[in-house]
Amino acid sequence: MKTLSASPTVAINALAAKKKREGQRVYNFSAGDPALDNHPAILKRALQQIEKKSQPYPPVEGIMELRGLAADWMNASCETHYAKENVMVTCGGKFALFSCLYSLLQPGGEVLIHAPYWVSYPEIVKMAGGVPKIIPPNPDNGWKLTVNDLLQHATDKTKIVIFNNACNPTGVLYTEQEVRDLLNAAKKLDLLVISDEVYSGLVYEQQDFISCGSFPEHHDRVVIVQSCSKNFAMTGWRVGFVLGPENIIQTLGVLQSQSTTGVSLVNQWAAVGALENFVEVNAYVNKAMKARRDVFIQTFNSLFPKPLDEIQSAIYSFVPLKSMGILENSEEFCAKVIASDNIALVPGTAFGMDGHVRFAFSEQEQEIIEALHALKKAVNRLMEDQS
Ligand code: PLP
Repeated sequence: MKTLSASPTVAINALAAKKKREGQRVYNFSAGDPALDNHPAILKRALQQIEKKSQPYPPVEGIMELRGLAADWMNASCETHYAKENVMVTCGGKFALFSCLYSLLQPGGEVLIHAPYWVSYPEIVKMAGGVPKIIPPNPDNGWKLTVNDLLQHATDKTKIVIFNNACNPTGVLYTEQEVRDLLNAAKKLDLLVISDEVYSGLVYEQQDFISCGSFPEHHDRVVIVQSCSKNFAMTGWRVGFVLGPENIIQTLGVLQSQSTTGVSLVNQWAAVGALENFVEVNAYVNKAMKARRDVFIQTFNSLFPKPLDEIQSAIYSFVPLKSMGILENSEEFCAKVIASDNIALVPGTAFGMDGHVRFAFSEQEQEIIEALHALKKAVNRLMEDQS
């Protein structure tokens, strides 16, 4: 454990929360946590379960109702072909990833991760005894992982590639052809694909989200990581899913039986409430996040000289510091603005790319506007110090 680092996003968010508890005015861009009330459908099912006379152990792989609904949701919204036996319910998407890597990776096995990546990928690979192999970022290629990247970086020790679509932190979205080409390359290299799709329902401007699970010819080498956290604004309920071939789900069940024993029944029934009404609940979250994205872009562009890149999906913007006129490295900058101005941002280094900071635009609109104005003030002061 000494070689691992704690999640920087969780750490910065905890610092912001501590300052808030102390009564300070804090501007939080660090947590990808949709600030929204629970949709009533979620609460209704959770309360029904709470009112039961007892709460026994849950089935290890999840209650059948939820496993079936998760398969139906993915089949209906992403054109996949899963049955309930292809689903395991986990403690959020994070444990879904941990479960896949811990159970499926041999010691020393290499895992390809494309930068900028979600902060937890390399550390979870290390916890699982594997070796993270980082594919450098390529802003000129729209930040996308390419077939060439896979061919260039895979060795005979490479067993798994983690693919993140829609992407945290860049908001990049892959086309059907791009996903198909990457899956064909994975087949050629005999790699298992762990496809992290936890933002599949937070896609804007009517673009299609393409799931790796929608290619039947690759069914055996694809494992999907999903979650209720972002798509249904349920981060604190801790309900996620692995979807994949039945033999893999059975293997993951062994780890779950010896670790978490599954997810609390109340929380699973809350997720049932979301998935029984997935069109409506996801539309409620998507609408709110789209409005926050638009306010974020509009306000940022009115305050800073260089306009932001388009944000196609998810709830983040990965912004070059230079575009705000800042010359420092991202860790120094983020340390300064949280210390002096109570503005919580995550440095690009946490995602494997310095020179950038990640903004989450998941707070209320007015909060986003005030936070950007506070940031503009802080940046002006730092620029005066620079000159
Ligand atoms: N994958 C990505 C890309 C994420 O950004 C997150 C959370 O921020 C997760 C997985 C895990 O989400 P959770 O454990 O809340 O379901």
